[in-house]
Amino acid sequence: MTRAWQNELWRLAVLVLAGVLAGALTGQAMVGLLLVLIVYLGWHLYNLNRLVRWLRESKSFKPPEASGIWDEAFEHIYRLQQRNQKRKRNLSGMLKRLHKMTSALPDATVELRPDSEEIEWWNTAAARYLGFEFPRDSGQRISNLIRHPAFLEYLHSGDYSQGVEMPSPVNEGQTLRIRLVPYAGKRRLLVARDMTHIQKLERMRQDFVANVSHELRTPLTVISGYLEALIDEDPDERCLAPLQSMQEQTRRMSRLVEDLMLLARLESDEPGHATRVVNIPELVAQVVSQAKTFSGREGHRFEVDIEDNLCLVGVESELYSAFSNLVLNAVHYTPAGGSIRVNWAREGEYALFSVTDTGPGIEAQHIPRLTERFYRVDAGRSRARGGTGLGLAIVKHVLLRHQGRLEIDSEPGRGSRFSCRFPESQLRSCKSAKNLQL
Ligand code: ADP
Repeated sequence: MTRAWQNELWRLAVLVLAGVLAGALTGQAMVGLLLVLIVYLGWHLYNLNRLVRWLRESKSFKPPEASGIWDEAFEHIYRLQQRNQKRKRNLSGMLKRLHKMTSALPDATVELRPDSEEIEWWNTAAARYLGFEFPRDSGQRISNLIRHPAFLEYLHSGDYSQGVEMPSPVNEGQTLRIRLVPYAGKRRLLVARDMTHIQKLERMRQDFVANVSHELRTPLTVISGYLEALIDEDPDERCLAPLQSMQEQTRRMSRLVEDLMLLARLESDEPGHATRVVNIPELVAQVVSQAKTFSGREGHRFEVDIEDNLCLVGVESELYSAFSNLVLNAVHYTPAGGSIRVNWAREGEYALFSVTDTGPGIEAQHIPRLTERFYRVDAGRSRARGGTGLGLAIVKHVLLRHQGRLEIDSEPGRGSRFSCRFPESQLRSCKSAKNLQL
């Protein structure tokens, strides 16, 4: 029990005693007790009333003067209020700082209401990049303000792991990368970043590679022509070996240039008019026949299983390039006499082109990096086999343009399986493959 309570009980006891004694002197002890209790109760009610008025009306935080237990009660409430006030000040300071911080962010940030597409708040960059205006757009649905089809598809897909690129609705020539970030249960934050500069650099890089490759093509053709002529003229023993080595290296450079140019085209060109229904069973048969020629005396065993009436919408030359890269890799990396299985079939709602070999296999740490340009597990071996280090990068880009993806399963010592998975939207019956322009 606190000191204030002890004092209060003492005070009550003294009052009761004094009332009873005073009443006893007049022969009315009970009346004396009753009067004391009424006065005591009245004092409490009076203080309670002051407390309620202070809490409700008082503009100052200073509590009214009181005595006894009420003094302690007022003091406690006063201290509690002061603590709350301090916390409120800290919180509002933090909120102001947070607001200034998000306003200063270079990326557009838009907060959506819980479980809804309605806009709750946005920062200054959002006004600049997306053209939002306060109060006009507050509470509007985001899908009414950003109407680009790529964004709408992304918004309604529910899968926000990747972002989406689209032109700014207000600034011509500006490209934005938009990401939705779910947080706090049902809330979503939209973050838009200006990609114009990065895109410009990327285009400069692509143009540079394409131009350099193009410029190298003519001198290489000339060198290769002269080398061939010199070798045809039966040079003496001392010159033949260097000339043949030069010819081999020139061929390698030509392959590299061709692959670099193909990659540049895959990155920058729209598939456009070249898209049609491609007869994949025929295309796979051609690829396998080419691979058998390459295998030559190495005598690989080929098992081929092709589903007849399964075709794809796409660009024939690109699909040929991707599939032949995979089958020729299997031939290059599988030791003589090994087996290579080529499959083209439906698998659930997908179509799968897969190449399985009994080659050396690949350690797990290399697999995620195989589609990077010039990434090789064993650079010496790849070069010795005439590889450019660009084959799987080409496969990846071709698949991206066909809404497909590359899957690699491999284990050292047990061989590898490279599969191209295409979604249902790309599949067609082969009856429509008679060079039907889409
Ligand atoms: P490269 O011209 O070197 O073959 P790729 O991009 O086609 O370039 O392949 C990248 C690397 O992946 C190769 O250097 C090789 O190490 C590995 N690789 C590709 N296919 C196979 C395979 N079937 N078996 C084992 N390793 C492979």
